[in-house]
Amino acid sequence: MVDFIDVPMAKRDPENKTVIGIVGGGAAALTSAETLRQEGFTGRILMFTEEPHAPYDRPVLSKNFNAKIDKLLLRTPEWLTQEATVEFLPNTKVKHVDVRKKTIVTENGESYNCDKILIATGGIPRRLKIPGSDLRNIEVLRSYNDLQRLAIFGKLDQNVVIIGSSFIGMELAASFAKNGAKEAHPFERVLGARIGQQLAGFLNQKKVVFRGGRNVVKFHGYSGKVTGAELNNGEILQADLVVLGVGVVPNTELVQGVETLPDRSLHVDPFMQCAIKASIYAKTSVVHQSPWMQRCLCSRIEHWDVAMQQGRIAAKNMMGKMAPYDSIPFFWTMLLGKSIRYAGYCVNPDEIVIEGNLKDMEFAALYVKNDQIQAVATCGKDPAAVATIEAMRRNLLPSYLEYQLGLMNVEQLVRVAQVMRFR
Ligand SMILES: Cc1cc2nc3c(=O)[nH]c(=O)nc-3n(C[C@H](O)[C@H](O)[C@H](O)COP(=O)(O)OP(=O)(O)OC[C@H]3O[C@@H](n4cnc5c(N)ncnc54)[C@H](O)[C@@H]3O)c2cc1C
Repeated sequence: MVDFIDVPMAKRDPENKTVIGIVGGGAAALTSAETLRQEGFTGRILMFTEEPHAPYDRPVLSKNFNAKIDKLLLRTPEWLTQEATVEFLPNTKVKHVDVRKKTIVTENGESYNCDKILIATGGIPRRLKIPGSDLRNIEVLRSYNDLQRLAIFGKLDQNVVIIGSSFIGMELAASFAKNGAKEAHPFERVLGARIGQQLAGFLNQKKVVFRGGRNVVKFHGYSGKVTGAELNNGEILQADLVVLGVGVVPNTELVQGVETLPDRSLHVDPFMQCAIKASIYAKTSVVHQSPWMQRCLCSRIEHWDVAMQQGRIAAKNMMGKMAPYDSIPFFWTMLLGKSIRYAGYCVNPDEIVIEGNLKDMEFAALYVKNDQIQAVATCGKDPAAVATIEAMRRNLLPSYLEYQLGLMNVEQLVRVAQVMRFR
């Protein structure tokens, strides 16, 4: 068995008067605090989170309804305060960050002057603006507290309507099905139509009913509670609970003095620094540095792994280390025991090529845009995901033309990566 060894960390030195404020208590906030200490920072670190908990494993929320917070914590509050000497402030909502004055003002009226500030506030789940949206039992899932409300419905043999078949929508459908909901209805598709249909087929066997390509136009209710979701074809789905999985909006409203992009994200340079004010760093829309990712130029990617990487990079740069963000985005999901990994970044691919056996969920899917392979998803082929990331990082991924000419396929890529590793 391999024991994990913590990287040594500097302790707080009262003589060092530098203050770094971290707004947020999620993945990015934690990795930035840890990295600051690992890189030798001895000043004050303040970490503000509106949640009552220390940073925890958020992706598990949609995958395991029975997860308990003590098992999800990435670090305990005691570890944060004693080992990492972080001033950890749970249940503390930040009202605004004044970029010009470099102050963090909390809802209870406290004001903190900082030398550097990291904005790591994540996203706010989108709500729908359709009739009936204000009815009770229309929920979102972002936090452990949200999960507590949803999990009760899962156990009650009730009708659950899930809007959005993003990963969270699909995972929720699987969780509700596993936990005894009567029926769950996710919409839309992910990963492309063919993989989406295959996943829908798996979920169908578990009492999950899909209504792809439909919009919800109205919620029906009785006595203030939701009773149904009406689709744009007039069909009404019975609902005791509706869960919205329709994306998030960057949580940046609290930042004053920096203009946001149209999607409300903050624009940062490859060093995670807001262009306007040199002391403010953020984990949000980033200009990419690596040659491979420069195709994406500027993007906001909502993955766990990306958040952790960006927290680390921001911390290094807050210490003046000039470390660019050049990682390859990666995420995974787990659906009814099938693990799917996705490396790269491709929005609206021109073509999706599937290698392997979709029926048995053992495949690699290549997402092609502008004649380039921009992302690869794998299922039951973990080495292929790793090989792809390695090839992307080294800018060795074949062009789509080379792929079509048979010069390289995913299996060969795995072998190449193995050779590269041994060198
Ligand atoms: C249910 C679910 C499942 C997911 N599954 C996956 C997955 O399988 N794979 C994957 O790659 N990604 C997944 N994600 C996405 C992943 O969790 C996020 O990309 C990641 O958590 C982002 O980290 P973050 O630190 O930027 O923000 P968050 O983790 O959202 O943390 C933001 C923190 O800021 C705090 N905060 C916000 N506003 C304020 C304020 N005003 N004052 C004080 N504190 C504030 C919040 O309380 C929170 O602690 C999932 C997300 C959810 C919700």
